[in-house]
Amino acid sequence: MSLETLDRLFAVETLKNIHQVFFCGSYGDPIVHPNFVDIVRKLRERAPTVWIYIHTNGGVHDPVWWSTLANIIGDYGRIDFNIDGLADTNHLYRRNVIFDKVINNAQAFIKAGAKAKWNFIVFKHNQHQVDEARMLSTLIGFEEFVVRKTGRFLDHEELTEYDEWPVKNNQGQTEYVIEPPTIDQYRNASTKNVNIEPSYFSETKIKCDAMENKKVVITAEGLVLPCNFFEHNMYDARFYQDAKPGANKMSFVDGENHVQKIINKYRDEIDINKTSLERAMRSEFWTEVMLSWEKEIGCGRIFECAFTCGQKLTKVWDQNKSVTHAYRYYVTGNNRGLGKYLSDEYVGDGCSRSSGLDITNPDDIQKIAKDSLMYDVFINNAFDGPPDTDWANYGQVNLLQEVYKIWKENNKSGHIINISSVGCRDIVAPEPEFETYRVAKAALDYASKQCAASFKNGIVDFRTTLITLDRLDTELSRSRDNWTGNGVDLKDIKNFIDYLVSVKRNTVIQDAVFYVNFNHKGV
Ligand code: SF4
Repeated sequence: MSLETLDRLFAVETLKNIHQVFFCGSYGDPIVHPNFVDIVRKLRERAPTVWIYIHTNGGVHDPVWWSTLANIIGDYGRIDFNIDGLADTNHLYRRNVIFDKVINNAQAFIKAGAKAKWNFIVFKHNQHQVDEARMLSTLIGFEEFVVRKTGRFLDHEELTEYDEWPVKNNQGQTEYVIEPPTIDQYRNASTKNVNIEPSYFSETKIKCDAMENKKVVITAEGLVLPCNFFEHNMYDARFYQDAKPGANKMSFVDGENHVQKIINKYRDEIDINKTSLERAMRSEFWTEVMLSWEKEIGCGRIFECAFTCGQKLTKVWDQNKSVTHAYRYYVTGNNRGLGKYLSDEYVGDGCSRSSGLDITNPDDIQKIAKDSLMYDVFINNAFDGPPDTDWANYGQVNLLQEVYKIWKENNKSGHIINISSVGCRDIVAPEPEFETYRVAKAALDYASKQCAASFKNGIVDFRTTLITLDRLDTELSRSRDNWTGNGVDLKDIKNFIDYLVSVKRNTVIQDAVFYVNFNHKGV
């Protein structure tokens, strides 16, 4: 991209609406751009507080260059150094990068006062070095150390996992192979457990990362695209020749790559060299992409969107579980009330009696528990039945126990959230008889805290939280005679869930209670 185009792109008026500028190479490393420091300096002069975020292997330039960059970025930004191993292994994936040089560069950057994170992609050849690298990252002063569970070994064509990936020299000869990690906790949840039918790609809900996070990608040639996955469809060798990780036949429409076809249709309208960012964003290109999600594969749906941003096969998002906005949610009782609200807000999957799965049925419990393995957050919301009915059979507790068991067997990380009721906190006499609702919710309360204790004691890697709720502000509550105008706002519950899944990975929030003042008149 020319400096003139960048100059126009980073206009002060445009930058006023931008929170973050992320420099990341799809086919290279941003730090090798000959004018990179000048570009970042100009950006900082025009937008003193815009967050500048860079991904790099850190393998070129000297410590003075890195100190200069740190001083320009200042407090509003961070660099992720991608270092996959130590001195004897980093170069096996990061070809020709010298480990000692990266460490010197990172040290200079951190010493100059800037923020840095160490990303470590785990392979078989470096899995034994994770703990040592983590310790080294602390000594050097990295703010964070993140293990990345690579999704690179998924065969896109066959939807199976490769055992190895050959590393070839410029003459095309294989020098050695790299292999996925063998330690379960470092394996990518999607690639180790691929079990997807072709119909999935037509049916899955699409949670568009670009839309969720209000971001666009601008490629080196100037195309404004929703994501780098679209760019990969333009240039990855796998779409032109027999190359790993292969191209799924559903990527093509009438022999042409579907994404390329759409980009080429609107190319002039989304080329930043020919238009402004604002005008590019008004192109019909975006509408065509979004409308495709309502269709099926073969009738207009873009395979890349279903493949990358669907619900169950999420190899990209399974790589880094600290990115909570990419989590996938499963909500029981998702047909109405709180369950429906959360399912809609999170663009999640789920079940209810009306979709054919009933938590009072042991077979259905097995199905739901097995399915839950594909999601990051499982919200155990559905109760067995309406309060005081004799058909309540502790279904919510039984389901929790099955989900706990299967998650533990599969070494799963993630979050289970149990929805309880303050009703179980009022101890009432069993007159005229026991209220199954209160008793079952009290059992859930106890079982949920037991699961949280398992995390605390290092028995499981997933966290469990109990959310106990007073009367909700829902259509149903409002239709009742006892509605006083006060109920828990569903948005507050969602905000709390956002918070509890984002607390540091070593911490579990065991339980929270939402009480309402029914007579509240405040403004
Ligand atoms: S692949 Fe499709 S759904 Fe995913 S971020 Fe890109 S445009 Fe959005």
